[in-house]
Amino acid sequence: MRVFVILPAAGIGTRMSAGGGVGSGHSTPKQFLAIAGVPVLVHCLRAFLAVERVEAIYVAVRKPEIERVRAQIADFGLGAPGPGRKVHVVEGGNVRQQSVSNALAKLVADAGCTEDDVVLVHDAARPLIDPPTIDRTIDAVAEHGAAIVALPAVDTIKQVERTAHGAIVTATIPRERIVQAQTPQGARYGLLRRAFAEAVADEFAGTDEASLLERAGIEVVVVPGSAKNFKITQPGDIELAEFYLAAAK
Ligand code: C5P
Repeated sequence: MRVFVILPAAGIGTRMSAGGGVGSGHSTPKQFLAIAGVPVLVHCLRAFLAVERVEAIYVAVRKPEIERVRAQIADFGLGAPGPGRKVHVVEGGNVRQQSVSNALAKLVADAGCTEDDVVLVHDAARPLIDPPTIDRTIDAVAEHGAAIVALPAVDTIKQVERTAHGAIVTATIPRERIVQAQTPQGARYGLLRRAFAEAVADEFAGTDEASLLERAGIEVVVVPGSAKNFKITQPGDIELAEFYLAAAK
């Protein structure tokens, strides 16, 4: 059983530039913004490279970013291009699922994955993922076939209908039945390949891997996550991540 990682990092992160505050007015996608002087993507790479079982990491970025990201990875000492390097940069797609699919195809072409290899996918915009959580996710995939990191819901969850006058509450969903999905999300390669193939055949587009696995009838187990593993999304999130980083020292 080998372990591979895909980091989709081809988003354009438009929400960061709306509404003022940090991030306002700039066009740098969130995965490339700096937290304590280090790009969000590099924080992610460091966490996964700290897990010995990880054999290779495939980062999917937009085509014009490929050379810049390769150079940045080398600058931060995470591997210059050449034999034996662990980090590979590949071209992403127009939606997250396509970015993951492109990276998966390159990974399979390079490494010749077997059915029981483990593939984890992690949003490049979640810089505070920690090696122990990554390890627990790998163990859960190895034991159960597919797993995601998720947080129990603490708020009361409402179902709404969107109308021209705003959202109207239609139901309350028992929160003990809810978890908020984070990443990493992963599966044995054979299961992930089947889930992606079925999604393509049905023209299904999901916002995470679990949605593809679920609809393929594959059981996905939950690994407890942490609030720190949030996704950089809106102005203020960079400061929050810096606060968590400083608190961890
Ligand atoms: O847009 P969202 O916040 O859901 O993005 C989650 C992750 O997917 C981010 O790391 C983002 O860079 C990535 N993504 C991607 N390709 C896209 C859109 C998003 O790799 N076309």
